[in-house]
Amino acid sequence: MTHDPDMNAQGFSTEQQEYLKGFFAGVQQRAPWVGTPITEAPSEQISAQPSTYFGVLLEDLCKEERFKHAENPLDIWDKLVKHADDDAFPSAEAGDVFRFKFHGLFYVAPAQDAFMLRCRLVACTLNSMQLRGLAQMASEWGGGYCDVTTRANVQIRQFPPKHIVDVLTRLSELGLTSRGAGADNVRNITITPTSGLDPTELYDVRGMAKALHFYILNNRDLFGLPRKFNIAFDSGGAISVVADTNDIGFVAVRAEDGVYFRVELGGITGHQTFAQDCGVLLRPDECVPVAAAMIRVFNEHGDRTDRKKARLKYLLERWGVPKFVEEVQKKLAFELRRFPRERCVERHEAVRHAHIGVHAQQQAGLNYIGVAVPVGRLTAAQMQGLADVAEQCGTGELRFTVWQNVLIANVPDANVDKAKAMLHGLGLCCEASFVEGGLVACTGNTGCKFAASNTKGQAMQIASYLNERLTLDQPINIHLTGCAHSCAQHYIGDIGLLGAKVESSSNGEGYHVFVGGGEGSTQGLARQVFAAVPFDDVPGRLEHMLRIYLTQREGDEPFVAFTRRHSVEALKTMFSTE
Ligand code: SF4
Repeated sequence: MTHDPDMNAQGFSTEQQEYLKGFFAGVQQRAPWVGTPITEAPSEQISAQPSTYFGVLLEDLCKEERFKHAENPLDIWDKLVKHADDDAFPSAEAGDVFRFKFHGLFYVAPAQDAFMLRCRLVACTLNSMQLRGLAQMASEWGGGYCDVTTRANVQIRQFPPKHIVDVLTRLSELGLTSRGAGADNVRNITITPTSGLDPTELYDVRGMAKALHFYILNNRDLFGLPRKFNIAFDSGGAISVVADTNDIGFVAVRAEDGVYFRVELGGITGHQTFAQDCGVLLRPDECVPVAAAMIRVFNEHGDRTDRKKARLKYLLERWGVPKFVEEVQKKLAFELRRFPRERCVERHEAVRHAHIGVHAQQQAGLNYIGVAVPVGRLTAAQMQGLADVAEQCGTGELRFTVWQNVLIANVPDANVDKAKAMLHGLGLCCEASFVEGGLVACTGNTGCKFAASNTKGQAMQIASYLNERLTLDQPINIHLTGCAHSCAQHYIGDIGLLGAKVESSSNGEGYHVFVGGGEGSTQGLARQVFAAVPFDDVPGRLEHMLRIYLTQREGDEPFVAFTRRHSVEALKTMFSTE
């Protein structure tokens, strides 16, 4: 072989060197490439193992990051098929329980020795055909029911391993997906559920949510973030989407010449933080690129060594909001518009419990019907029945809300009574007491290993107890959450109940009791007034608290205002039953 004078020390010709330079430049542009990031100059280390992952030494990564580095969870289809063929559950130690969550498959032992499927819905909407398909999956392969979640999503439980591939392929056939529904990904994108229906809204956000949903699905670098990531679009309409509890909340406002969006960052009420305005004003068409840029900045710079500090809130605390916005700006092809929030006209106040009942739409003669779904649970028969109602009385369209209920859209005036009758036939209704309408409960210990209590079952007991004894004249929200992860956001409830192990309770279960939480225009964290109350005493304690409120409030003062004008000590004394 003749010696090529252009060959370098590694034995590559000039042409080969140029090719490799171009190839790796392309790869670098795609970085961070989840699972196989290129961290070193290529010419010397083509075959070398990367020693870092997103700039972090491998030995410093937390366990979940090591799992992601060892095997990209998006690339485990063969493994899913093998587990289905073998009817075998995944191994937690090997990282597969975690990796399966990238596909919306949660192995939820010991609470249930089965998988839970979590979907991702486009703009929190299903058509009747899709709901029927989910109902069929639940009956055929699962536990025969679904849960509407606090991210306006649908979960189905009790799938054996042998059906996980059936479940994912059927989901795909229905035009649905579960990709990225769990683990360190952008979760179900929530929107004001009455978008495009509500006569009072500022902007129909469905298109933005849909565009972002598909943008994420088609960009692998937007998966495998340092931690989960929540995004909400608030249309400025009657129903709150609790945007300020999200990592990013896009909130419609009026400013000078039209409708724009404020961007709120870093909400995570389980860590007692609401999202804060970042000083930027966006045109509607700018929201999706800004969201993508923000996710990418978080992906590149979020903490991958400590799960407890991995959410966006902690990057914002480390950097400050201005630096975060500067880094986002570097990824955008347009200038971010800095504009003070004080010069914007805020959305009008959301109407409490407008997610329940019959409401006129912006389209003359049409209504949306908010169906009360007790603690979000629907049997497969009720799912099929709701699909019937939507088809026979509306246009087949169903929306899901963060209040764990369902809206049937586009019901003509003439069909409202028929829809109500059909709902009653299903054991559902669109009328609910002021307690039931605002009852939110996480999965609890019948389906989640972290739960200290049976949140869903006990929420129903509390509602029935209070309904028998009290008549409230305005809505109240009671949120029950089984552990500090706070999936049901106890910090934003009028009354928040956080599950606790309580020895003196007949079943060992109880709650810490919080009061005075709110979001949006009543934003504020609930304060704890009682610790470790045995569940046996909780319904009576809440009745007492509400009676004190009803007799001692000023005028028609809401519960949240009543509790906020008293100190915790004063509330403890007032609400004490001893
Ligand atoms: Fe499970 Fe805790 Fe979330 Fe409830 S709050 S669903 S117990 S993780």
